[in-house]
Amino acid sequence: MRVLVIANQKGGVGKTTTAINLGTALAAVGEKVLLIDSDPQGNASTGLGVGRALRKNTLYDVLMGEKPVVDAVVQTSLPGLDLVPADPDLSGVELELGQQARRSFKLRDALQPLREAGGYTYVLIDCPPSLNLLTVNAMAAADAVLVPLQCEFFALEGLTQLMRTVDLVRGSLNPKLEIQGVVLTMYDRRNSLSEQVAGDVRGYFGDTVYQTVIPRNVRVSEAPSFGKPALVYDLKCAGSQAYLKLAREVVLRERARHQKLAAGAA
Ligand code: ADP
Ligand code: MG
Repeated sequence: MRVLVIANQKGGVGKTTTAINLGTALAAVGEKVLLIDSDPQGNASTGLGVGRALRKNTLYDVLMGEKPVVDAVVQTSLPGLDLVPADPDLSGVELELGQQARRSFKLRDALQPLREAGGYTYVLIDCPPSLNLLTVNAMAAADAVLVPLQCEFFALEGLTQLMRTVDLVRGSLNPKLEIQGVVLTMYDRRNSLSEQVAGDVRGYFGDTVYQTVIPRNVRVSEAPSFGKPALVYDLKCAGSQAYLKLAREVVLRERARHQKLAAGAA
């Protein structure tokens, strides 16, 4: 089981869209995927058609230790893609956990039974637009971070802070945390700024940036209002096709890492 956290403290960069559609694409190629909605806004839950009425137990109950994670899992309409939904209560977690010991390990501890059971091959965590306790919990629980970056002028702004947080988490909570990759989102090829930003980001991050670029695509932005992933709403659209390609890259990177680990262990 690989746990990938989708993080960027900027809002509106495509975290939730990536969580939903990468999750769907991974499930489509046969992976067993659990998406954890760790944003009190619950956009990933809504976008997957899991409205308020269907959210019996949520990530809040799990982090507060009131429910085991399996009790919060909801099946989506897609085979191979399950969800742990979020609701607004989640915003209270930081205050409610206070200075409790292991406050940063609540998610990791909660996911341990899933690691042991081995039912899921990928767990994706959709983060809130902030470097708060929820994001720290996600990073402490994760194997790697996937960073969506919007192709706009201030794309790189705030990334230093994000990388510093990753370093802090490595230094204290989770030494094995890696960067899975950086994905460029909402790329507009009619806009020369998109191209320029993409060039800058590749210059700065090199091969960490996935080859796949997610285009700005109206079908992708329409899909959530139907409670469907773009891949279900319109599989043929450029956005859906890009997320399928991204899933392939993610899996190849995970395989390469796995082989390296196995070679190191031998
Ligand atoms: P975040 O979770 O980082 O706040 P979202 O995934 O919610 O960002 O995306 C922000 C907005 O941009 C949403 O309205 C979403 O529908 C839209 N969006 C995201 N990706 C695309 C895309 N590839 N093409 C068009 N619109 C997109
Ligand atoms: Mg979001």
